Amino acid sequence: MATLDLRSITKSFGTASVLKGIDLAIRDKEFVVFVGPSGCGKSTLLRIVAGLEEATSGQIVIGGTDVSALAPVDRGISMVFQSYALYPHLSVFENIAFPLRVAKLSEAEVKSKVGKAAEILQLTDKLHLKPGQLSGGQRQRVAIGRSIVRNPKVFLFDEPLSNLDAALRGDMRVELSQLHRDLSATMVYVTHDQVEAMTMAHRIVVLNAGRVEQFGTPMELYHHPATRFVATFIGQPN
Ligand code: ADP
Ligand code: MG
Repeated sequence: MATLDLRSITKSFGTASVLKGIDLAIRDKEFVVFVGPSGCGKSTLLRIVAGLEEATSGQIVIGGTDVSALAPVDRGISMVFQSYALYPHLSVFENIAFPLRVAKLSEAEVKSKVGKAAEILQLTDKLHLKPGQLSGGQRQRVAIGRSIVRNPKVFLFDEPLSNLDAALRGDMRVELSQLHRDLSATMVYVTHDQVEAMTMAHRIVVLNAGRVEQFGTPMELYHHPATRFVATFIGQPN
């Protein structure tokens, strides 16, 4: 069970209080989208969940186990960034295989896992190419492939599509929803794109200045915004 509980998470940088007590209970296999204005703390929260940043206080609990003290690789979490962070000199195959090489898996296991990920992401005929020979959407799929091979229980996406043009974003949205069904993993997805939030989310978290304004289904937020902020931020998608 990959439930993800965030308990009273706070974060300060010096005197600046960036997260002011985040409490959220995310269900197993749920697709939760975080939205909120630039600087409200979305990336900081994701980095804390992934273990790339330490919370000032609070706990991260996955499947009932407190992982707050665990190293990033031991949390069963994978994070996909806006910048793809691919190795330009390595093939698509080796980019996807990278975490498996680090974990010293056998060649047969590497081939099998990379092959499976490539199939899901429609990259099977691209495995011999270098990232520079791919489109933006394909590069983002390679980055996702690299996170899939580790079989994480929880995926974190930080604005993964914001470098792509509008048409491609639409295609990738559909693909990510499909991926969510294929992997049946818990997914947390940050975007500043309302359409993405409204169409992809089971539930949406609206963050504002380090606090949760509302956590609910797209329809709840749309029809019953808890605050004026939510009403203006999400109430009138265009
Ligand atoms: P978002 O992703 O919602 O745009 P961030 O989580 O990146 O917001 O940033 C939230 C706030 O924390 C911003 O005011 C940002 O300047 C500040 N911040 C983020 N990382 C650091 C850091 N390493 N040191 C100091 N301030 C930071
Ligand atoms: Mg951010």
